[in-house]
Amino acid sequence: RELVSPDAEGDERVIEAALRPKRLSEFIGQARVREQLSLVLQSALLRARPPDHVLMSGPPGLGKTTLAMIIAAELGAPLRVTSGPALERAGDLAAILSTLSDGEVLFIDEIHRMARPAEEMLYLAMEDFRVDIVVGKGPGATAIPLDIAPFTLVGATTRAGLLPAPLRDRFGFTAHMDFYEREELERVLWRSARLLSVDLPGEAAEEIAGRSRGTPRIANRLLRRVRDFSDVRAEGLITREIASAALNLYEVDAEGLDRLDRAVLTALLRRFGGGPVGLSTLAVAVGEEPETVEVVAEPFLVRQGLLARTPRGRVATAAAWTHFGLVPPPGAFG
Ligand code: ADP
Repeated sequence: RELVSPDAEGDERVIEAALRPKRLSEFIGQARVREQLSLVLQSALLRARPPDHVLMSGPPGLGKTTLAMIIAAELGAPLRVTSGPALERAGDLAAILSTLSDGEVLFIDEIHRMARPAEEMLYLAMEDFRVDIVVGKGPGATAIPLDIAPFTLVGATTRAGLLPAPLRDRFGFTAHMDFYEREELERVLWRSARLLSVDLPGEAAEEIAGRSRGTPRIANRLLRRVRDFSDVRAEGLITREIASAALNLYEVDAEGLDRLDRAVLTALLRRFGGGPVGLSTLAVAVGEEPETVEVVAEPFLVRQGLLARTPRGRVATAAAWTHFGLVPPPGAFG
């Protein structure tokens, strides 16, 4: 398991649940999204109607699931959770939609991975609070319309660009989640430290935040590794030096680049002379799916100014060469 992978697995989910902010006022950072969402929710409460459907897009680990739970909590509504890959057949979705209660919030994670027939059923449900249940097969098949309770769909996707336009258009509000600033991650860390009863000085929080890849999930994970290290080797004391020693031990580099980030950049620099190179060629070179490279590694590398996406392909920036202590070929930057 990669220490800085943005995905959560196994036991981590349990700890995450404990660290999740429960209300919008506890949610740190993403000021614009918070304000927009707060307006949508307050006006829905004023009108006593379920709010418009909400789409959240952005890289993993930034708080999309947390926000979906907060939306339900703020509305005082029950929450149903599923995911795109779980909705293989239209019937899977129909079973959920037909049992929603009035005003319920339905959260579909990875909504871009939903099967086509389910997607089409969802259009009608989102717009008219109705599903057509198809009975029978072939020419004798009939569609029986069924009313469903008014609900709010909250969809999350790492790739808003992949959503078909008819689906995207049915969301009244799209929240674009971006990587967190270092100072925001420090606040996430202080909050988690308090909940975990860890004594975290400001300097140590700064050190961990800087290596967290702009991602709260990673910040929380690094905090736990620093705590382990400090419990075993430093009698529970955490200082900047101890945090830094712990993270070096776990091979998290000073910019928080993980193994995949480093693999992508070194392939780009060493095998392709800094690019431009196409996404799929680059993905083959690092032995990953193009989607993983595009969704997991690239957004952070772009934000750090290490990689650029151009019409001709992926290109390493001057900063990328410097980061790896390499010298760009003559004329690479004009
Ligand atoms: P996503 O669904 O985008 O992958 P999650 O909502 O599961 O991300 O968030 C991952 C973890 O990060 C959660 O455990 C949560 O505690 C923490 N987290 C995310 N956003 C915030 C935030 N704004 N403030 C505090 N903690 C956060």
